Amino acid sequence: MGAKARAWVNRGLIVLAALAGVGLILGLPVATTWGKIAILATAALLGGMVAWREIPAFDPLGRVHWRLPRRPERACAITFDDGPSANTGRVVEILGRYQVKATFFVLAANARRHPDVLRRVAEQGHTVAIHGVTHKKVHRDSEASVERELSTAIGELSALGVPPARLYRAPHGRKSAATLRAARKLGCQLWAWSRGIWDTDRPDPEILVRRATRFACSRMVLLLHDGRGDEEHPDIESMLAALPRILERLRADGFTFLTLDGA
Ligand SMILES: [Zn+2]
Repeated sequence: MGAKARAWVNRGLIVLAALAGVGLILGLPVATTWGKIAILATAALLGGMVAWREIPAFDPLGRVHWRLPRRPERACAITFDDGPSANTGRVVEILGRYQVKATFFVLAANARRHPDVLRRVAEQGHTVAIHGVTHKKVHRDSEASVERELSTAIGELSALGVPPARLYRAPHGRKSAATLRAARKLGCQLWAWSRGIWDTDRPDPEILVRRATRFACSRMVLLLHDGRGDEEHPDIESMLAALPRILERLRADGFTFLTLDGA
């Protein structure tokens, strides 16, 4: 089973478990109405805490950005994670052909390998933002450790000639209260996304086009990858083959393309 199918099965199981839980509690012969409400509220709180950890965009307090503002209408953002790689130049070439500006959440360790590519991304008017030094998850790290990771990434990218926009997307989108505090301390907005299409699984390009454009809606922040974590020679051919058609279809649907630094 592919990652996408698994994710849907997981979501289905969570909904079923939640419904079964609510049904069980409401059917409890012993608890009073207030008792049932208390049990449901506790279950909702615990569920919310799990969701906060597991779902990158989920934050009831609105501290995690994951879609564009309401205006302008019919706008979307194309974002790339895990670069730069040897193939990022081809991404930039495709974006240039369609006159689309995108946001690149880069890893400083990958930028060290491809400094010219990093500079080219910035020179072409794209927004360079922060994904970390390496692709290790940070949601279990202390505030000081995340702060160190972020300031090292900012320092290294700046030393390569590209001071990044203060936008941070944590690896795998995993976050904690410490992640949020560290990002805020360094003046960074924490970003997730509204649509991921599992392009790193490298399915048939037509599948990627369908996932990216079916039900596309205003404010969409699309997550793509011009690298694969810390891999030195990532294979992104499937995404590269899909990208022109994704841009064509979104534009034909009336979408304009924004970068996240203005959002
Ligand atoms: Zn990533």
